[in-house]
Amino acid sequence: MRVTIFGTGYVGLVTGACLAEVGNEVTCVDVDAGKIARLEAGEVPIFEPGLEVLVRDNRAAGRLRFTTSAAAGIAGAQLIFIAVGTPPDEDGSADLSHVLAVAHTIGAELAEPVVVVNKSTVPVGTADRVRATITAALAERGAAIAFDVASNPEFLKEGDAVKDCMRPDRIIIGSDSAQAVARLRALYAPFNRNHDRIVVMDVRSAELTKYAANAMLATKISFMNEIAAIAEQVGADVEQVRLGIGSDPRIGYHFIYPGAGYGGSCFPKDVKALEHTARSHGAEPRLLAAVEAVNAAQKQRLFALLQQHLGDLAGRTIAVWGLAFKPNTDDMREAPSRTLLERLWSAGARVNAYDPEAAHEVRRLYGERSDLALCPDAYAALDGADALVVVTEWKAFRSPDFERIRRTLRTSVVVDGRNIFDPAAVEAAGLAYYGIGRGRSV
Ligand code: NAD
Repeated sequence: MRVTIFGTGYVGLVTGACLAEVGNEVTCVDVDAGKIARLEAGEVPIFEPGLEVLVRDNRAAGRLRFTTSAAAGIAGAQLIFIAVGTPPDEDGSADLSHVLAVAHTIGAELAEPVVVVNKSTVPVGTADRVRATITAALAERGAAIAFDVASNPEFLKEGDAVKDCMRPDRIIIGSDSAQAVARLRALYAPFNRNHDRIVVMDVRSAELTKYAANAMLATKISFMNEIAAIAEQVGADVEQVRLGIGSDPRIGYHFIYPGAGYGGSCFPKDVKALEHTARSHGAEPRLLAAVEAVNAAQKQRLFALLQQHLGDLAGRTIAVWGLAFKPNTDDMREAPSRTLLERLWSAGARVNAYDPEAAHEVRRLYGERSDLALCPDAYAALDGADALVVVTEWKAFRSPDFERIRRTLRTSVVVDGRNIFDPAAVEAAGLAYYGIGRGRSV
């Protein structure tokens, strides 16, 4: 099929590369000329395991093209995906300006019938607004061309995006058009061979499903962080509690890790947007508000633990392992590391940071600063530092040489923001250990 995708971010680029890999002709359109130039030069602007080779091979095979020209993308497309950003507006609602700008462009350029598929995470009712925007743009030029608008929310996880796209848990299609559903079923058939993962529903339910999924995941994290706070006060170890409750199949072991708070480009904005949607329809989202409040407090936790051990942090140097909001990505949007870094800097501390992939991102966000040293490896970050804080649980951090950490640090303390270490092993090396919810009260 001839497929065009608007937006070449984490979702658009991965989707485009995977659709090209199974034989479709894919055109990726983006307004960011710099990004398109890099992609055309064979560079992949984001880090996502397995993506570079997919982009390279499919470009070489002529199945994957990149352009800034919306007209070139729309001409001849059978399916047009919208995969642009939907950042939070000031009031927490989703900013739909990029989605509606693409809808307007489609209406202005469309020459043949097409199925427009919204993959961006958008509030309930957005498909209607996309349809109205295309219709208005067609009317402006006196054109009458048939089109469908379907909702196909994306569930890929950064860090596993290619795998998730190639082997999805489910594919949600929200549409009341049999023709649109049939076309999407055909498009997704190569990813749906093992068993049928396609769930067809009405558009509004599909739009809400995406927010419900992210809100549920964020709730699990905040729930565990709340249990961790209780464990700390009562002298229990949340890691034992986690194993104890995870063994109940109704609860399960997945996604019940306490830590430094959730971040990333999706959970924070999607919980806020769902709250906004609820309020604007007269519903009171009591649980969602609590999920957010717990998370905001949790993001302060690592700083509080450092302060508890070291006292005044002015003039101190803190080694930070991990900056990305989670492992296997370079994405630092809403990352807990940012809250920590900013608090450390305002307290007058210096940061020695190491992250396997996000160094360029922290540089882009904060520029060159005298109180930030980006280190070439994890151990280099310890030189001259008073404490080590683990913020992101990259695999490479899981089994370090604790003796070496103690020998290098000026003050022997490790703050394990992801509970990846065995406290006994850390303490046996002569280091003080602080985890999340591990029986040490502040
Ligand atoms: P992103 O910010 O990485 O990329 C968005 C891209 O859209 C940018 O390259 C931007 O230049 C481009 N763009 C903006 N306006 C455009 C226009 N008018 N025409 C063409 N391109 C335009 O965003 P992302 O992380 O890929 O997320 C996209 C959407 O998917 C969001 O709604 C997000 O909530 C949702 N989503 C994201 C993830 C994720 O893990 N990142 C997962 C599921 C769903």
